[in-house]
Amino acid sequence: MQEERCEGILLQTRETGESDLIVTFWTDRFGRFAMRAPKARKSQKRFGGQLQSFARLQLAFQRAREQGRLPQLLRAEAVEGSAILPEALVAFAAASFTGELLLRMTDEEDANPNIYELYARFLTFCAEQPLTPKALARFELRLLELLGLLPSWTRCMECGTPFAPEESTRFDLLQGGLICGQCRSSREAPLILPATRSGLYALQTKTALPVETETWRDILNLLDRRLCHVLGYETRSRAFLAEVAGF
Ligand SMILES: [Zn+2]
Repeated sequence: MQEERCEGILLQTRETGESDLIVTFWTDRFGRFAMRAPKARKSQKRFGGQLQSFARLQLAFQRAREQGRLPQLLRAEAVEGSAILPEALVAFAAASFTGELLLRMTDEEDANPNIYELYARFLTFCAEQPLTPKALARFELRLLELLGLLPSWTRCMECGTPFAPEESTRFDLLQGGLICGQCRSSREAPLILPATRSGLYALQTKTALPVETETWRDILNLLDRRLCHVLGYETRSRAFLAEVAGF
């Protein structure tokens, strides 16, 4: 089999066999992609010591001849100029939580270079400056958008009526859309204040808009709840991030 290449961010490592690792990356060319790294468990020096969580790497690999067997990692080198995630707990917790979203919300080899770019940019941000509710909300919103799970912030998803500027709406967590006061939902649908809705809209359309810190927290809370519904469970990594970051 021919040698192939891609760029990837290491999300998960599992032990297998006597001395091997199964390493799961999010890659630019293949989306979520798992490989077998032979002898990687025995020696830290194997693969140049590069197989660290959230490292951005140039990968060379070979697909297996037999169906159902994982491709084999041949070499891994750090991408030049890629940010090294500091030891700081918040950055690590943020990388873990967002990495878990990628692992759970995408299928193996479902390529999406925009998601790869989003994650790489987010990790660079985390390596260079303190995480803010706005930065995390931006990541979550963009991820939902790239996965085709983002609702309209400007009109009711039931009746299609555009919202008035000062109208309070509800957010249907199951359907992932906003509903007006006339359309009742029997499902769980928290109230959304107009400021939260315009903040969400500004974030999505990249419009400059003064948004209060409290509103960023509301927006983040809403996106978190939507992600929980999509995932079907509460993630421990999000709870840990909230504990160390305070939001
Ligand atoms: Zn309606």
